[in-house]
Amino acid sequence: MIRRRRIEIVASAEQRVVLRHAAVRVDVGCTECGTRMVTPDEAAIISRVNTRTIYRWVEMGAVHFMEHSGQLWVCLNSLPMNPQGRES
Ligand SMILES: [Zn+2]
Repeated sequence: MIRRRRIEIVASAEQRVVLRHAAVRVDVGCTECGTRMVTPDEAAIISRVNTRTIYRWVEMGAVHFMEHSGQLWVCLNSLPMNPQGRES
């Protein structure tokens, strides 16, 4: 008789994201909560999803966003820091 054992390995990691900008920075905070805004690329790094997912969240109204100087800005405070359990 063959006995099978299932071993589940759970790993976690902490990531620190430092945002540095030489390009245009938006001075206006989020109109909904006043928090700093980031670009979709930055939002993707922070939320550990791809940029396309960020655009989808914007279209769904799942995150605070605004357009300023032809650039889309996403509210840092409305991003899920832990995207698990969220559709990506
Ligand atoms: Zn906001």
